[in-house]
Amino acid sequence: MLNHKEILDLRGKHLGPSLSVSYDEPLHIVRGEAQYLFDAKGNRYLDCVNNIQHVGHCHPKVVEAAQQQYKKLNTNTRYLDETIVNYAKELTATMPDGLDVCFFTNSGSEANDLALLMARNFTNSKETIVLKGAYHGNLSSLIEISPYKHNGPGGSGTPDHVHVISIPGPYRGKYKGAEWSEQYVQEVQNAIAEIQSTGKNVSAFIVEALMGCGGQLLLPKGFLKESFAKVKNAGGVCIADEIQIGFGRMGSHFWGFESEGTIPDIVTMGKSMGNGHPLSAVVTTREMAESFNNGMEYFNSFGGNPVSCAVGQAVLNVIKEEDLQENALAVGSYLLERLKKLQMQHNLIGEVRGRGLFIGIELIKDDAPAAAEARTMVNQMKDKGLLLSTDGPDHNVIKIKPPMVFNKENADELVKKLDEIMTKK
Ligand code: PMP
Repeated sequence: MLNHKEILDLRGKHLGPSLSVSYDEPLHIVRGEAQYLFDAKGNRYLDCVNNIQHVGHCHPKVVEAAQQQYKKLNTNTRYLDETIVNYAKELTATMPDGLDVCFFTNSGSEANDLALLMARNFTNSKETIVLKGAYHGNLSSLIEISPYKHNGPGGSGTPDHVHVISIPGPYRGKYKGAEWSEQYVQEVQNAIAEIQSTGKNVSAFIVEALMGCGGQLLLPKGFLKESFAKVKNAGGVCIADEIQIGFGRMGSHFWGFESEGTIPDIVTMGKSMGNGHPLSAVVTTREMAESFNNGMEYFNSFGGNPVSCAVGQAVLNVIKEEDLQENALAVGSYLLERLKKLQMQHNLIGEVRGRGLFIGIELIKDDAPAAAEARTMVNQMKDKGLLLSTDGPDHNVIKIKPPMVFNKENADELVKKLDEIMTKK
């Protein structure tokens, strides 16, 4: 077995240098089980951040489903196959009526790229509205619409077809006061007017109902519903990116957009969908799907293959069997409350926010984003056996989005260790 240093050296030689590694002293994880990870020395870590391993690391039912299907058959979606149609039926049954057509893909980025392609086909336009700080994927089409990337290091700025709305945070956002939600909606209206003034149509508004890379940000009440209405009214397509927040993580609802009381035209999902297996999808209306049936076939070599669909089906089953959405609501609300109490004891915590098992702790020092402190805390927590990471445009938000089997004892341990670290400072 290679040791720590040998692996690092080989990474240096053979992996692209733009790929970072987590923590100042990188971890060599060799095994996972439920909400726990184990390193090569046998140390156990509580995983508080891996939202991809949705039903828990190496869930036996998911592993079994993949193994069984792999033994039997793995082909593509051009053959008749029971697994794919049953899975598509069950997946769309979790959605509001009308969202009932699936396109299977292999990553969140592929799903979002396909969603953009559909919107562009439907509207005959590329003009896209996005939120500042948003991240929607690693393909070139998505870096273009992701201010998190194109306005960050190495980026080349916002392209002309992309229209950016201010990041709508109540704490450090642009607008405050009773009317702050309307002011952000007004920005969407202004973007629509700007697009139309050049004689073009709105193509799409793509948004997460609760922003992930944007810093675990809740949208202002009514914002999504009203801005979707404005975009639809202008003939544009509303896309809900559920890649981080879907599949019950919100606790109150299965899908994030539902918790905002609105229905998009297209939903994209990935990450948790396959519990780590590369599986993602676009779900849309019959109308949108028919318009996309324009003669150019959409075929994806791996998307929706029988193994992927068996895995996806097992994940859906486990969410239901183990009441994981209900767990996200109960444990998430408990953790949020405990973290809000912690905030009262530590000035470094500017805001605690979130929904279900999707929570952010924004650190502020001397009225400025405390990125260095956030980084130090995440490293110290790792040394205490708890895995977290930072995000947000200023990298000062500690994000909490654990596997959905996270329990109250885990929440207590997390709060206790955070308290210890902040008390020592
Ligand atoms: N959308 C959102 C909201 C994401 O958080 C991510 C991944 N962090 C993506 C899209 C891209 O997904 P993937 O890495 O699977 O391509």
